[in-house]
Amino acid sequence: MDLNRRNFLKFTVATGTMGAASAVQKVKASTPKPDSGDWAGVLLDTTVCIGCRKCEWACKNINKLPTEPIESYEDKSVFKKMRRPSAGAYTVVNQFENPKSPEKPYYVKYQCMQCIDAACVSACIVGALKKDAKTGAVIYDPWKCIGCRYCMVACPFQIPAYEYDNALTPQVRKSTFCYQRLSKYQGRPACVEICPVQAMTYGKRSELIEIARQKIRTYPDRYVDHIYGEHELGGTAWLYLSGKPMTEMGMKKFGERPIPTYTEPVQHGIFKHFVPQISLFALLGGIMWLFKKRDEVEGKREGGEE
Ligand code: SF4
Ligand code: SF4
Ligand code: SF4
Repeated sequence: MDLNRRNFLKFTVATGTMGAASAVQKVKASTPKPDSGDWAGVLLDTTVCIGCRKCEWACKNINKLPTEPIESYEDKSVFKKMRRPSAGAYTVVNQFENPKSPEKPYYVKYQCMQCIDAACVSACIVGALKKDAKTGAVIYDPWKCIGCRYCMVACPFQIPAYEYDNALTPQVRKSTFCYQRLSKYQGRPACVEICPVQAMTYGKRSELIEIARQKIRTYPDRYVDHIYGEHELGGTAWLYLSGKPMTEMGMKKFGERPIPTYTEPVQHGIFKHFVPQISLFALLGGIMWLFKKRDEVEGKREGGEE
C-alpha cells in the first residue's frame, strides 16, 4: 500500500497503531542500505571560496524559490550574522575569521550534507525521504510525506525545514543535490556549475577523497589535516577542506558512527511493542540532546574551563 498524507490518516484511524506499525516495518524493510562506492559527492575547498554567494542564487533559481536578482547577492552585510538553510534558501554561505590572513576571511557554504547513512531517511516512517540508489542523493516525495517532522528532529545538521507559512500543502524543504540534473542530464549541481572560482569539485565521492588527501599532502600549511565529512557520522557526500577546523566554522564535532545505528534498533522496538509513535520524537530528541551536551562539554574542555 502506498502511504500518502491523506490515506495515512485514514489508515491510522481505521486500523490503529498496530496496523500502522506493520506498514511502517514494511516500508523500513525496503529502505536500501548504504553503499557509497560510486555515489556522487562535492569537495568544497573553503580556502578557495570568495563568499560571492552566487551559489545561493543558483540554488534558489534551479529550485524555483523566490529570489532577488543575482547582483543583489554581492551584499556582504548578510555576513554580520550566522545564517542557516531554511525553507526559502536551501544553501547559505557564512563568513569566518582567518587567523593566518585576517584581510582574507574564510567562507563556508552549508546545505544538506547528503549523509551516506542518513538519519532523516531512517527516521521517516513512510519512506518520503530516501536515498537515490544511483547518485546517493537524499530525495523527497511530498505525496508520501505526512508532516510528522521526525526528519527535522533526527537530522544532526539541523537541515530539513518545514513550510510553516504554507497552511494548505506544507512540505519539508532541503537541497536534494540537484538530483534531476545528476541523474537525467549527467550534470552537476547548480551551485557547483555557477561557482566562479571552482571552489567546489563534483565527482565520485571516493575520488574526491583522494583529491582532498593529495591537496593536504601538497599544501600542509594551507589545510588542516582533516577532510570534514569523510568519516563524520558514517560519511557525507559533501566533503570540506579548510584552513582551520570546521568545528570552528559552524560545523559540529561528530564521531564516525551513523545515527541510524543508534536509533533503528530502538525504533524497531517501539513499533514492535506498539509504543505510541510520539516516543520516536523523545528518542530522536534525546539522542540529539546527548550530542549537544557532548559538544558543550568538549567545547568547555577545549576552552580550558574546569
Ligand atoms: S544533512 Fe540532515 S537532511 Fe541532509 S541527508 Fe543528512 S540527515 Fe538528511
Ligand atoms: S515530515 Fe519528514 S519524517 Fe515526516 S513523513 Fe515528511 S519527510 Fe518523512
Ligand atoms: S559560488 Fe563558489 S565562491 Fe561563491 S560563495 Fe559559493 S562556493 Fe563560494
